[in-house]
Amino acid sequence: SKATLFDKGTRVNITFNDVAGLDEAKVEVMEIVDFLKNPKKYTSLGGKIPKGALLVGPPGTGKTLLAKAMAGEAQVPFFSMSGSDFVELFVGVGASRVRDLFKQAREKAPCIIFIDEIDAIGRARGKNVMMSNDERENTLNQLLVEMDGFGTDSGIIILAATNRPDVLDSALLRPGRFDRQISIDKPDLAGREQIFQVHLKPIKTSPNLDIKKLASMTPGFAGADIANVCNEAALIAARKGKTEVEMDDFNDAVDRVIGGLEKKNKIISPEE
Ligand code: ATP
Repeated sequence: SKATLFDKGTRVNITFNDVAGLDEAKVEVMEIVDFLKNPKKYTSLGGKIPKGALLVGPPGTGKTLLAKAMAGEAQVPFFSMSGSDFVELFVGVGASRVRDLFKQAREKAPCIIFIDEIDAIGRARGKNVMMSNDERENTLNQLLVEMDGFGTDSGIIILAATNRPDVLDSALLRPGRFDRQISIDKPDLAGREQIFQVHLKPIKTSPNLDIKKLASMTPGFAGADIANVCNEAALIAARKGKTEVEMDDFNDAVDRVIGGLEKKNKIISPEE
């Protein structure tokens, strides 16, 4: 719940099948899943298992989904927190929440800890406008302390997501911390088609729906936007009293989602 500011080791049943496209990223994260499943296989020759990886890419491209799928594939508990949740906390609270999260994670290891929007707490000194610098630094320092405090054989893997790796404090990227970066890009044509396949599954569509065309109509869409299109199309068709969702409902849904994206971009960059 929001009150605890983090997700306490939930079991997830999301797997790599739920994540469409992202083939290269999946290969990289499969290796991490195997570290969790068979740690001895890797440490037997003296190697050190990485503690963390950074998932880098624009919003809505499936970073959270992929992190959850890793927990699902490895069948380990999933802990998560969002950097932005720490922005308005009273002094000292951020650090103690981080401590609490790692304490619980250690008790449930092997497990995955996912930190969304890590840039909100992990920005390099002097670049943060959201949080008083002292408090943000306390929270960041506690995170670094926790990461250094467990061995590479502890069975805890920390994943963090950001779309601004350039602003991160270099302390976070040092060896033994987030020393691996996995890029999660917006899907290409084939990727969008695969994402449509996933999100069309629960929808009652007309048999002559052209999925390739849907993919070609949606350049620049992230996975989250495609999920949104599928849902909107179903609602638009239902409102018209239809019994199946047709191509023209998808056309309308794409227009609506593009409208929403344009509005959002205006809010984010009003000077343009
Ligand atoms: P943010 O940075 O905004 O948190 P994110 O990269 O973590 O975004 P998710 O929260 O994982 O994005 O994606 C939101 C939703 O979009 C997912 O729950 C899923 O429904 C859909 N989605 C995104 N990418 C994919 C994908 N590659 N395959 C299937 N569904 C996807």
